[in-house]
Amino acid sequence: MDYVPPKNLLAGRIILITGAGDGIGRAAALSCARYGATVILSGRTTEKLESVYDEIYHAMTTSDDGLSRPAPSSTMSPTIVPMDLARITQADAQQLARSIDSQYGRLDGLLHNAALLGERLPFEHTSIERWQEVMQVNLHAPLLLSHALLPLLECSDDGRLLFTSAGVGSKPRAYLGAYSVSKYALEGLAKLIADELEKTSKVRVNLINPGSTRTSMRATAFPAEDPQTLKTPEALMPLYLYLLGPDSRQEHGRTFTEDTFRRLL
Ligand code: NAP
Repeated sequence: MDYVPPKNLLAGRIILITGAGDGIGRAAALSCARYGATVILSGRTTEKLESVYDEIYHAMTTSDDGLSRPAPSSTMSPTIVPMDLARITQADAQQLARSIDSQYGRLDGLLHNAALLGERLPFEHTSIERWQEVMQVNLHAPLLLSHALLPLLECSDDGRLLFTSAGVGSKPRAYLGAYSVSKYALEGLAKLIADELEKTSKVRVNLINPGSTRTSMRATAFPAEDPQTLKTPEALMPLYLYLLGPDSRQEHGRTFTEDTFRRLL
């Protein structure tokens, strides 16, 4: 991708990323921090979030020639928010909003990235409990977080609400029932919010469909595939930076893939 963002693209922005401990979310957290954002790292596995935190902190305190730099201020350091989206309630989401409000007073970006693949079974053999868990993590959790955090995004001069879809969010794939349906519904939710905010808000709402990417989710979904044939999460970062930064101010209510992004450049 030919988009070359300036080093300070996200300077001063506060960005919350769900599923920041692994895969695409991890790459997005590291990238956003590298381009100047203060990142709020949310995820299910605290050790993974700590490892992302350490990597960001090390980069912030080490200059390009390997010398140490002063520790960043507390408002620039990343924050870790362990959160199991399978269990999140409206009260948890509101509590998170209160703590971001008291620490920063606003939110400039919310990247809904975490998701669960769920079972790969024919619909008639699907466990209803597992189906509901996928809907909870992939749809209801982003709904609760968007609902609670939208007022803080409205406090930003240039807020971004970014959802993560998939190819199966517009064309269902057999044996990926709950995952497909959750992404369909998520596209609907994102486009509904975009429609409502179009003329009344500065918050820009879009979706990313990352396409086939070398992560553990992809390996679980397609175990016979050679991961080396897939792009890495890092290769997608220009698109994520574009949609989370000021250059995408005119984008709203759209689903972006690598292809749509390439055509835009
Ligand atoms: P991944 O490597 O499996 O990472 C998923 C992340 O979501 C992990 O950090 C995981 O946390 C987190 N997560 C899962 N369940 C959670 C829960 N209950 N509470 C909180 N966090 C939870 O997947 P990925 O491939 O990077 O996927 C990222 C996004 O891209 C997803 O929305 C996915 O649907 C979408 N996508 C991916 C592809 C692809 O080919 N990879 C294609 C299209 C769309 P833990 O690490 O702690 O488990």
